[in-house]
Amino acid sequence: MPQSVHPSSPTASPEVDGDAGGQVPVPMFNLTRQYDSIGKELEAAARTVLSRTEYIGGTAVNDFEQQLGAFCQCQAVAVSSGTDAILAILMALKIGPGDTVITTPFTFFATGGCIARTGAKPLFVDINPDTFLIDQSAMEQSVNSSVRGIIPVHLFGQMTPMKSLVKWACDRGISVVEDAAQSIGAHDPDGVVPGELSVAAALSFYPTKNLGAAGDAGGVLTRMEAFANRIRQTRQHGEVSRYMHEFVGGNFRLDALQCAILSAKLPYLPKWNQRRIEIADFYDHALADTDVKPPHRIAHARHVFHQYVIRTPKRDELKDHLTRLGIGSMVYYPKPLHLQQCFADLGYQAGALPNAEAACREVLALPIFPELTEAEIVRVANAVRHFFGKNALP
Ligand SMILES: *Cc1c(COP(=O)(O)O)cnc(C)c1O
Repeated sequence: MPQSVHPSSPTASPEVDGDAGGQVPVPMFNLTRQYDSIGKELEAAARTVLSRTEYIGGTAVNDFEQQLGAFCQCQAVAVSSGTDAILAILMALKIGPGDTVITTPFTFFATGGCIARTGAKPLFVDINPDTFLIDQSAMEQSVNSSVRGIIPVHLFGQMTPMKSLVKWACDRGISVVEDAAQSIGAHDPDGVVPGELSVAAALSFYPTKNLGAAGDAGGVLTRMEAFANRIRQTRQHGEVSRYMHEFVGGNFRLDALQCAILSAKLPYLPKWNQRRIEIADFYDHALADTDVKPPHRIAHARHVFHQYVIRTPKRDELKDHLTRLGIGSMVYYPKPLHLQQCFADLGYQAGALPNAEAACREVLALPIFPELTEAEIVRVANAVRHFFGKNALP
Protein backbone atom coordinates (compact mmCIF):
# COMPACT_ATOMS: atom_id res chain seq x y z
CA MET A 1 0.00 0.00 0.00
CA PRO A 2 1.49 3.35 -0.94
CA GLN A 3 2.10 5.33 2.19
CA SER A 4 0.51 8.41 0.69
CA VAL A 5 -2.93 6.81 1.05
CA HIS A 6 -2.41 5.90 4.69
CA PRO A 7 -2.94 8.12 7.72
CA SER A 8 0.18 9.87 8.96
CA SER A 9 2.81 8.13 6.88
CA PRO A 10 5.83 7.49 9.12
CA THR A 11 8.24 8.96 6.62
CA ALA A 12 6.17 12.03 5.85
CA SER A 13 7.98 15.30 6.25
CA PRO A 14 6.13 18.51 7.01
CA GLU A 15 4.84 20.14 3.87
CA VAL A 16 7.15 23.09 3.92
CA ASP A 17 6.32 25.60 1.27
CA GLY A 18 9.08 28.13 0.71
CA ASP A 19 10.36 30.28 3.55
CA ALA A 20 9.75 28.91 7.02
CA GLY A 21 10.55 32.30 8.51
CA GLY A 22 14.05 31.27 9.51
CA GLN A 23 12.56 28.87 12.08
CA VAL A 24 13.20 25.17 12.25
CA PRO A 25 10.20 23.24 10.85
CA VAL A 26 7.99 21.27 13.25
CA PRO A 27 7.21 17.85 11.77
CA MET A 28 3.74 16.31 11.98
CA PHE A 29 5.44 13.09 12.98
CA ASN A 30 9.00 11.89 13.45
CA LEU A 31 10.18 8.38 14.38
CA THR A 32 13.90 9.11 14.27
CA ARG A 33 13.78 10.64 17.73
CA GLN A 34 12.27 7.49 19.19
CA TYR A 35 14.84 5.36 17.38
CA ASP A 36 17.64 7.56 18.71
CA SER A 37 16.46 6.95 22.26
CA ILE A 38 15.65 3.20 22.24
CA GLY A 39 17.16 1.96 18.98
CA LYS A 40 19.78 -0.17 20.74
CA GLU A 41 17.08 -2.11 22.61
CA LEU A 42 15.14 -2.68 19.40
CA GLU A 43 18.25 -3.95 17.62
CA ALA A 44 19.02 -6.34 20.48
CA ALA A 45 15.44 -7.66 20.40
CA ALA A 46 15.62 -8.17 16.63
CA ARG A 47 19.02 -9.90 16.86
CA THR A 48 17.66 -12.38 19.41
CA VAL A 49 14.92 -13.42 16.99
CA LEU A 50 17.32 -13.57 14.04
CA SER A 51 19.77 -15.84 15.84
CA ARG A 52 17.04 -18.01 17.33
CA THR A 53 15.68 -18.50 13.77
CA GLU A 54 12.15 -19.01 15.05
CA TYR A 55 10.51 -16.58 12.63
CA ILE A 56 6.86 -17.68 12.67
CA GLY A 57 5.11 -18.31 15.96
CA GLY A 58 7.13 -19.45 18.98
CA THR A 59 8.60 -17.64 21.95
CA ALA A 60 8.59 -14.04 20.71
CA VAL A 61 4.95 -14.25 19.62
CA ASN A 62 3.78 -15.98 22.81
CA ASP A 63 5.70 -13.53 25.00
CA PHE A 64 4.26 -10.51 23.23
CA GLU A 65 0.72 -11.87 23.44
CA GLN A 66 1.16 -12.42 27.20
CA GLN A 67 2.55 -8.91 27.75
CA LEU A 68 -0.04 -7.22 25.54
CA GLY A 69 -2.86 -9.14 27.22
CA ALA A 70 -1.62 -8.12 30.68
CA PHE A 71 -1.34 -4.48 29.62
CA CYS A 72 -4.79 -4.44 28.01
CA GLN A 73 -6.53 -6.59 30.65
CA CYS A 74 -7.72 -9.02 27.95
CA GLN A 75 -6.61 -12.09 26.03
CA ALA A 76 -4.46 -10.84 23.16
CA VAL A 77 -3.84 -12.43 19.77
CA ALA A 78 -1.15 -10.92 17.54
CA VAL A 79 -2.16 -10.51 13.89
CA SER A 80 -0.65 -9.09 10.72
CA SER A 81 -2.22 -5.60 10.81
CA GLY A 82 -5.05 -3.56 12.26
CA THR A 83 -7.00 -4.14 9.08
CA ASP A 84 -6.53 -7.90 9.37
CA ALA A 85 -7.56 -7.71 13.02
CA ILE A 86 -10.94 -6.26 11.99
CA LEU A 87 -11.29 -8.71 9.10
CA ALA A 88 -10.36 -11.74 11.22
CA ILE A 89 -12.89 -10.77 13.91
CA LEU A 90 -15.68 -10.39 11.32
CA MET A 91 -14.71 -13.71 9.67
CA ALA A 92 -14.60 -15.44 13.06
CA LEU A 93 -18.16 -14.17 13.66
CA LYS A 94 -19.19 -15.66 10.27
CA ILE A 95 -20.43 -12.28 9.09
CA GLY A 96 -20.95 -12.36 5.33
CA PRO A 97 -23.36 -11.93 2.40
CA GLY A 98 -26.88 -10.97 3.48
CA ASP A 99 -25.62 -9.39 6.71
CA THR A 100 -25.36 -5.69 7.49
CA VAL A 101 -22.78 -4.10 9.79
CA ILE A 102 -23.26 -0.59 11.18
CA THR A 103 -20.28 1.74 11.48
CA THR A 104 -19.23 5.39 11.34
CA PRO A 105 -18.34 7.10 8.04
CA PHE A 106 -15.74 9.25 9.83
CA THR A 107 -12.86 6.80 10.21
CA PHE A 108 -9.88 5.36 8.38
CA PHE A 109 -10.98 3.33 5.35
CA ALA A 110 -10.19 -0.09 6.87
CA THR A 111 -13.27 -0.09 9.11
CA GLY A 112 -15.68 0.05 6.19
CA GLY A 113 -13.43 -1.84 3.80
CA CYS A 114 -13.31 -4.93 6.04
CA ILE A 115 -17.12 -5.04 6.30
CA ALA A 116 -17.39 -4.99 2.51
CA ARG A 117 -14.65 -7.64 2.10
CA THR A 118 -16.70 -10.17 4.10
CA GLY A 119 -19.56 -9.70 1.62
CA ALA A 120 -21.67 -7.91 4.23
CA LYS A 121 -23.17 -4.49 3.62
CA PRO A 122 -21.79 -1.49 5.52
CA LEU A 123 -24.50 0.76 6.99
CA PHE A 124 -23.01 4.16 7.79
CA VAL A 125 -24.67 6.29 10.47
CA ASP A 126 -23.81 9.84 11.46
CA ILE A 127 -21.46 10.97 14.20
CA ASN A 128 -21.80 13.17 17.26
CA PRO A 129 -20.39 16.52 16.06
CA ASP A 130 -18.57 17.16 19.34
CA THR A 131 -16.83 13.84 19.91
CA PHE A 132 -16.64 12.68 16.23
CA LEU A 133 -17.77 9.25 17.54
CA ILE A 134 -20.73 7.22 16.24
CA ASP A 135 -24.03 8.67 17.41
CA GLN A 136 -25.96 6.03 19.31
CA SER A 137 -29.39 7.50 18.61
CA ALA A 138 -28.61 7.64 14.86
CA MET A 139 -27.59 4.01 15.12
CA GLU A 140 -30.81 3.07 16.91
CA GLN A 141 -32.87 4.82 14.22
CA SER A 142 -31.13 3.10 11.29
CA VAL A 143 -31.00 -0.46 12.58
CA ASN A 144 -32.87 -3.14 10.61
CA SER A 145 -33.32 -6.89 10.84
CA SER A 146 -30.25 -7.70 8.71
CA VAL A 147 -27.85 -5.93 11.11
CA ARG A 148 -25.55 -8.49 12.74
CA GLY A 149 -22.72 -6.29 13.88
CA ILE A 150 -21.73 -2.79 14.96
CA ILE A 151 -18.21 -1.37 14.78
CA PRO A 152 -17.74 1.71 16.96
CA VAL A 153 -14.40 3.40 16.19
CA HIS A 154 -12.52 4.90 19.14
CA LEU A 155 -11.34 7.79 17.02
CA PHE A 156 -8.20 9.85 17.71
CA GLY A 157 -7.65 8.03 21.04
CA GLN A 158 -11.05 8.56 22.66
CA MET A 159 -13.36 5.62 23.30
CA THR A 160 -17.00 5.46 22.33
CA PRO A 161 -18.80 4.89 25.67
CA MET A 162 -19.43 1.16 25.64
CA LYS A 163 -21.95 0.26 28.34
CA SER A 164 -25.21 1.50 26.84
CA LEU A 165 -24.08 0.64 23.30
CA VAL A 166 -23.26 -2.96 24.20
CA LYS A 167 -26.46 -3.38 26.22
CA TRP A 168 -28.53 -2.09 23.30
CA ALA A 169 -26.75 -4.42 20.86
CA CYS A 170 -26.90 -7.48 23.13
CA ASP A 171 -30.66 -7.06 23.57
CA ARG A 172 -30.97 -7.42 19.79
CA GLY A 173 -28.45 -10.21 19.26
CA ILE A 174 -26.04 -7.84 17.49
CA SER A 175 -22.27 -8.34 17.96
CA VAL A 176 -20.14 -5.34 18.92
CA VAL A 177 -16.62 -5.20 17.44
CA GLU A 178 -14.43 -2.28 18.50
CA ASP A 179 -12.03 -0.54 16.15
CA ALA A 180 -9.48 0.39 18.82
CA ALA A 181 -6.65 0.99 16.32
CA GLN A 182 -6.10 4.49 17.74
CA SER A 183 -6.92 3.91 21.39
CA ILE A 184 -4.56 1.47 23.12
CA GLY A 185 -4.39 2.53 26.78
CA ALA A 186 -7.68 4.46 26.73
CA HIS A 187 -10.75 3.82 28.88
CA ASP A 188 -14.31 5.11 28.64
CA PRO A 189 -16.19 7.16 31.29
CA ASP A 190 -17.12 3.97 33.16
CA GLY A 191 -13.52 2.73 33.18
CA VAL A 192 -14.25 0.18 30.44
CA VAL A 193 -11.21 -0.74 28.29
CA PRO A 194 -11.17 -1.95 24.64
CA GLY A 195 -12.16 -5.61 24.41
CA GLU A 196 -13.79 -5.70 27.84
CA LEU A 197 -17.51 -5.63 26.97
CA SER A 198 -17.52 -6.28 23.21
CA VAL A 199 -16.88 -9.53 21.35
CA ALA A 200 -13.41 -8.23 20.54
CA ALA A 201 -11.39 -5.10 19.81
CA ALA A 202 -8.95 -4.56 16.94
CA LEU A 203 -5.60 -2.84 17.57
CA SER A 204 -3.17 -1.49 15.00
CA PHE A 205 0.59 -1.27 15.47
CA TYR A 206 1.17 0.67 12.26
CA PRO A 207 4.41 2.63 12.88
CA THR A 208 2.66 5.95 13.59
CA LYS A 209 0.17 4.53 16.08
CA ASN A 210 0.65 5.10 19.84
CA LEU A 211 2.42 1.73 19.94
CA GLY A 212 4.09 1.15 16.57
CA ALA A 213 5.91 -1.82 15.08
CA ALA A 214 8.74 -1.66 12.53
CA GLY A 215 6.24 -2.43 9.79
CA ASP A 216 2.66 -3.65 9.67
CA ALA A 217 1.22 -5.31 12.78
CA GLY A 218 -2.02 -5.60 14.71
CA GLY A 219 -3.77 -7.33 17.56
CA VAL A 220 -7.12 -8.69 18.68
CA LEU A 221 -8.28 -8.22 22.28
CA THR A 222 -11.09 -10.23 23.85
CA ARG A 223 -12.19 -11.39 27.29
CA MET A 224 -13.49 -14.68 25.84
CA GLU A 225 -10.96 -17.51 25.73
CA ALA A 226 -13.01 -19.39 23.13
CA PHE A 227 -13.09 -16.35 20.85
CA ALA A 228 -9.34 -15.81 21.23
CA ASN A 229 -8.86 -19.41 20.11
CA ARG A 230 -11.18 -18.88 17.17
CA ILE A 231 -9.08 -15.86 16.09
CA ARG A 232 -5.94 -18.05 16.37
CA GLN A 233 -7.63 -20.56 14.10
CA THR A 234 -8.80 -17.82 11.71
CA ARG A 235 -5.26 -16.39 11.39
CA GLN A 236 -4.03 -19.86 10.41
CA HIS A 237 -6.42 -20.60 7.48
CA GLY A 238 -9.10 -22.03 9.78
CA GLU A 239 -6.83 -24.97 10.60
CA VAL A 240 -8.01 -27.22 13.43
CA SER A 241 -5.01 -29.53 13.17
CA ARG A 242 -2.17 -29.64 10.66
CA TYR A 243 -3.64 -29.48 7.11
CA MET A 244 -7.19 -30.00 8.43
CA HIS A 245 -9.37 -26.94 7.73
CA GLU A 246 -12.65 -26.46 9.51
CA PHE A 247 -13.46 -23.14 7.80
CA VAL A 248 -11.78 -20.67 5.46
CA GLY A 249 -9.55 -18.21 7.30
CA GLY A 250 -6.44 -16.41 6.13
CA ASN A 251 -2.77 -15.92 6.86
CA PHE A 252 -3.14 -13.24 9.49
CA ARG A 253 -0.05 -14.21 11.53
CA LEU A 254 2.31 -11.61 12.96
CA ASP A 255 6.07 -12.18 12.48
CA ALA A 256 8.23 -13.03 15.49
CA LEU A 257 10.46 -10.05 14.57
CA GLN A 258 7.61 -7.57 14.90
CA CYS A 259 6.49 -9.19 18.16
CA ALA A 260 9.99 -8.84 19.65
CA ILE A 261 10.13 -5.16 18.66
CA LEU A 262 6.67 -4.53 20.10
CA SER A 263 7.63 -6.31 23.35
CA ALA A 264 10.64 -4.00 23.64
CA LYS A 265 8.47 -0.91 23.09
CA LEU A 266 5.41 -1.83 25.18
CA PRO A 267 6.98 -0.85 28.56
CA TYR A 268 7.36 2.72 27.25
CA LEU A 269 3.73 3.07 26.18
CA PRO A 270 2.34 4.42 29.51
CA LYS A 271 4.95 7.18 29.49
CA TRP A 272 4.37 7.94 25.80
CA ASN A 273 0.59 8.12 26.25
CA GLN A 274 1.04 10.37 29.29
CA ARG A 275 3.21 12.72 27.27
CA ARG A 276 0.57 12.91 24.51
CA ILE A 277 -2.01 13.89 27.15
CA GLU A 278 0.31 16.59 28.53
CA ILE A 279 0.82 18.06 25.08
CA ALA A 280 -2.96 18.03 24.53
CA ASP A 281 -3.45 19.83 27.87
CA PHE A 282 -0.93 22.44 26.78
CA TYR A 283 -2.64 23.01 23.42
CA ASP A 284 -6.05 23.22 25.11
CA HIS A 285 -4.85 26.05 27.36
CA ALA A 286 -2.76 27.79 24.73
CA LEU A 287 -5.64 27.92 22.22
CA ALA A 288 -8.48 28.59 24.68
CA ASP A 289 -8.93 32.24 23.61
CA THR A 290 -8.81 31.53 19.86
CA ASP A 291 -11.70 30.62 17.56
CA VAL A 292 -10.65 26.97 17.22
CA LYS A 293 -12.79 24.31 18.81
CA PRO A 294 -10.45 22.08 20.82
CA PRO A 295 -11.00 18.30 20.98
CA HIS A 296 -13.97 17.45 23.17
CA ARG A 297 -13.02 15.24 26.09
CA ILE A 298 -15.67 12.98 27.55
CA ALA A 299 -15.66 13.52 31.33
CA HIS A 300 -14.07 10.76 33.43
CA ALA A 301 -12.71 8.99 30.35
CA ARG A 302 -9.04 8.58 29.39
CA HIS A 303 -8.32 10.02 25.93
CA VAL A 304 -4.85 8.92 24.71
CA PHE A 305 -4.59 11.50 21.93
CA HIS A 306 -3.46 9.47 19.00
CA GLN A 307 -4.32 12.73 17.25
CA TYR A 308 -5.04 16.24 18.53
CA VAL A 309 -7.81 17.39 16.21
CA ILE A 310 -9.12 20.92 16.26
CA ARG A 311 -12.03 22.25 14.31
CA THR A 312 -12.53 25.52 12.44
CA PRO A 313 -14.52 26.62 9.38
CA LYS A 314 -11.24 28.28 8.23
CA ARG A 315 -9.46 24.91 8.18
CA ASP A 316 -7.90 25.19 4.72
CA GLU A 317 -6.56 28.71 5.36
CA LEU A 318 -5.19 27.66 8.76
CA LYS A 319 -3.47 24.65 7.20
CA ASP A 320 -1.88 26.87 4.53
CA HIS A 321 -0.73 29.30 7.23
CA LEU A 322 0.92 26.48 9.21
CA THR A 323 2.54 25.09 6.07
CA ARG A 324 4.03 28.49 5.27
CA LEU A 325 5.52 28.57 8.78
CA GLY A 326 7.00 25.09 8.35
CA ILE A 327 4.56 23.42 10.73
CA GLY A 328 3.13 20.05 9.82
CA SER A 329 -0.60 19.34 10.07
CA MET A 330 -2.92 16.75 8.55
CA VAL A 331 -6.57 16.32 7.68
CA TYR A 332 -8.05 13.15 9.20
CA TYR A 333 -10.23 12.53 7.27
CA PRO A 334 -10.97 14.58 4.14
CA LYS A 335 -13.76 12.38 2.73
CA PRO A 336 -16.30 10.32 4.67
CA LEU A 337 -16.60 6.64 3.78
CA HIS A 338 -20.23 6.88 2.58
CA LEU A 339 -19.12 9.21 -0.23
CA GLN A 340 -16.11 7.14 -1.36
CA GLN A 341 -16.22 5.99 -4.96
CA CYS A 342 -15.88 2.32 -3.98
CA PHE A 343 -19.13 2.57 -1.99
CA ALA A 344 -21.12 4.42 -4.68
CA ASP A 345 -23.35 1.37 -5.16
CA LEU A 346 -24.60 1.79 -1.59
CA GLY A 347 -26.45 4.87 -2.91
CA TYR A 348 -25.50 7.55 -0.37
CA GLN A 349 -25.81 11.15 -1.58
CA ALA A 350 -23.88 14.19 -0.35
CA GLY A 351 -25.80 15.60 2.61
CA ALA A 352 -26.91 12.17 3.84
CA LEU A 353 -24.69 12.25 6.97
CA PRO A 354 -24.19 15.97 7.56
CA ASN A 355 -22.20 15.83 10.81
CA ALA A 356 -19.56 13.57 9.29
CA GLU A 357 -19.42 15.66 6.11
CA ALA A 358 -18.99 18.92 8.08
CA ALA A 359 -16.23 17.33 10.17
CA CYS A 360 -14.38 16.38 6.97
CA ARG A 361 -14.42 20.05 5.92
CA GLU A 362 -13.38 21.51 9.29
CA VAL A 363 -10.95 19.21 11.13
CA LEU A 364 -7.20 19.67 11.36
CA ALA A 365 -4.74 17.53 13.31
CA LEU A 366 -1.77 19.33 14.91
CA PRO A 367 1.58 17.62 15.66
CA ILE A 368 1.30 15.41 18.76
CA PHE A 369 3.89 12.72 19.41
CA PRO A 370 5.81 12.06 22.62
CA GLU A 371 9.19 13.34 21.42
CA LEU A 372 8.00 16.85 20.50
CA THR A 373 10.05 19.45 22.40
CA GLU A 374 8.61 22.23 24.54
CA ALA A 375 9.86 24.81 22.03
CA GLU A 376 8.11 23.00 19.19
CA ILE A 377 4.80 22.80 21.04
CA VAL A 378 4.96 26.52 21.80
CA ARG A 379 5.77 27.22 18.17
CA VAL A 380 2.74 25.25 16.97
CA ALA A 381 0.45 27.00 19.45
CA ASN A 382 1.80 30.44 18.55
CA ALA A 383 1.36 29.78 14.85
CA VAL A 384 -2.32 28.94 15.43
CA ARG A 385 -2.70 31.97 17.72
CA HIS A 386 -1.15 34.22 15.09
CA PHE A 387 -3.62 32.99 12.48
CA PHE A 388 -6.50 34.03 14.75
CA GLY A 389 -4.94 37.42 15.52
CA LYS A 390 -3.86 36.58 19.05
CA ASN A 391 -0.55 37.52 20.69
CA ALA A 392 2.24 35.01 21.09
CA LEU A 393 2.32 33.18 24.41
CA PRO A 394 4.32 35.05 27.10
C1 LIG B 1 -4.70 2.47 11.51
C2 LIG B 1 -6.17 2.16 11.51
C3 LIG B 1 -6.69 0.95 11.01
C4 LIG B 1 -5.89 -0.04 10.22
O1 LIG B 1 -4.73 -0.46 10.79
P1 LIG B 1 -3.52 -1.00 9.86
O2 LIG B 1 -2.60 -1.58 10.87
O3 LIG B 1 -2.97 0.17 9.14
O4 LIG B 1 -4.08 -2.02 8.94
C5 LIG B 1 -8.03 0.71 11.16
N1 LIG B 1 -8.85 1.61 11.74
C6 LIG B 1 -8.40 2.78 12.21
C7 LIG B 1 -9.36 3.72 12.85
C8 LIG B 1 -7.05 3.10 12.09
O5 LIG B 1 -6.61 4.28 12.54
